[in-house]
Amino acid sequence: MAVLPIRITGNPVLHTRAAEVTDFGTELATLVADMYETMEAAPGVGLAAPQVGVSRRLFVFNWTDDEERLWRGVAINPELWVSPTPTGEADEQSESEGCLSIPGERFPLRRAELAILRGVDLHQTPFEITAEGWLARIFQHEFDHLDGVLYVDRLEHKHARAADKAIRKNGWGVPDLSWTPGVDDLEA
Ligand code: ZN
Repeated sequence: MAVLPIRITGNPVLHTRAAEVTDFGTELATLVADMYETMEAAPGVGLAAPQVGVSRRLFVFNWTDDEERLWRGVAINPELWVSPTPTGEADEQSESEGCLSIPGERFPLRRAELAILRGVDLHQTPFEITAEGWLARIFQHEFDHLDGVLYVDRLEHKHARAADKAIRKNGWGVPDLSWTPGVDDLEA
């Protein structure tokens, strides 16, 4: 297994719709193992294949809820149903989101409270998870990556401006930057 370089915003792979997974062979198994290792090293609660330069529709997640239940898995060729997004301003304290492709930055964003994720695992076994709260947020965030959408693309105007500024200040938004957890001195 290996920790993979995580692409930083501006890399075209992050801004392109990823293709369906069609080959469930050993190459995919290796990719998933490496994605788990990369997510844990970062550390992060989710990681989508485009973030490691692979334009395919899969993501991994690893999150423990308030009741100490661990939600960990891989979603391949997922579908996502979400409840309507609440209106009003996002709360800075409880609704600030981050992304390993925009490391160290956080901005508030409203998300649907409820999400139903359907997909298959490495063995092509279908599964369904009904998620609330932060897990629902993780699924929405990771699913967006598969459509080439970053959370900063969804921010309200004032936060979008702040995010643009932060991205420029860091010298990101160019095509070829990445960082490797445990190697580069960057904190997610
Ligand atoms: Zn992300």
